[in-house]
Amino acid sequence: MATTEEIIKLYDQYVIPNYIRFPIVQVKGEGVEIWDSNGKRYLDLFSGWAVSNLGHCHPKVAAAIQKQAGLLQHAPNIYYTEPQGQLAKRISENSFGGQCFFCNSGAEANEAAIKLARIHNEAKGKFKIITMNDSFHGRTMATLTATGQPKYHKGFAPLVSGFEYAPFNDLEKVESLVDDQTCAILTETVQGEGGINIPDKSYIKGLRDLCDRKDILLILDEVQCGMGRTGKFFAYQHYDIEPDIMTMAKALGGAIAIGAITAKKEIAKSLVPGTHASTFGGNPLACAAGVAVFDATIEEKLLENTNEMGLYFRQELDKLAAEFDVIKEIRTLGLMIGVELKKPAADIVKKCMDAGLLINCTHDTVIRIMPQLNVKKENIDEGVSILKKILQSD
Ligand SMILES: *Cc1c(COP(=O)(O)O)cnc(C)c1O
Repeated sequence: MATTEEIIKLYDQYVIPNYIRFPIVQVKGEGVEIWDSNGKRYLDLFSGWAVSNLGHCHPKVAAAIQKQAGLLQHAPNIYYTEPQGQLAKRISENSFGGQCFFCNSGAEANEAAIKLARIHNEAKGKFKIITMNDSFHGRTMATLTATGQPKYHKGFAPLVSGFEYAPFNDLEKVESLVDDQTCAILTETVQGEGGINIPDKSYIKGLRDLCDRKDILLILDEVQCGMGRTGKFFAYQHYDIEPDIMTMAKALGGAIAIGAITAKKEIAKSLVPGTHASTFGGNPLACAAGVAVFDATIEEKLLENTNEMGLYFRQELDKLAAEFDVIKEIRTLGLMIGVELKKPAADIVKKCMDAGLLINCTHDTVIRIMPQLNVKKENIDEGVSILKKILQSD
């Protein structure tokens, strides 16, 4: 095997430098642990942006991928395969009974939702979409435009027209933007990249009510907060409402690239043949992994564990907050955890990594923690004790 230095050199020479990377070569993962090319072990409480929700190389997901890899890896969407049908059934039955379209990423899922919202409203002359400040919806041109953070827009003008922005969790501001041309409101149910922002019940219910009154589609982006992350299969289920369209990706394929939307049937039918497509979308390999993710989540009672461990993690973090003045606020829903500091968090996250704990910094001052859904108390104890040590030495 190439050395750490040789591998990093390959990147320096052959990979476009659009990421800031830590000088670590990840080699192997098992459950909540990762090992690098020097044999150093890390406790992973971030799950790679909430992708590896079941832990690294979950045996049931690995077995499903291996089995499907030897059977059929790709089938064009002019044919049928069982994994795509089975995954669509699981998404539908665990959400609001809609129909699915499959693609390969979160951005593509939101792109599909935006296109569906527009084509569904074309005859009514409605095309405007309202999204929220501090949101994150992806990096394609339409989803970049939908993302309410100017720093991501810089350098890419002209953006896609027809998008407007409101502050998150501010129903009145959203309502003030609505006009006869508004076709959809798009928001993450819980904002991830924006710092783990959990909206009020009245806001999400108010958006639903506003959409009903004004004949507007409610699109919820559950790319990060979905798939059990918040202790329910989908975060909207905390709010006693249903969206018209929901987008998914990240944890859906248990580390295999996949994205999906599910939409109420009467809306979904607007996506007639020829309007949208994806070559790899719904391929049997990714879908077989997705089926295994759903089945393992249910069989292993991971939603229950998420709620239980979410409360435990919260309790342990509250103890840190009582001890360390630098902690400004803790926001959690299930195992979607944000610890907001009174100063930039990147340095603390980096020190934790050096000490063998993988967590993340988002929105400058927020430590983001998103452990695997089958995390155990002992993993949380280990993580919190590392974080505590770093805070003490800070
Ligand atoms: C990560 C993310 C996306 C984009 O997903 P990609 O797979 O990177 O395209 C979209 N929305 C949310 C909420 C996300 O967290």
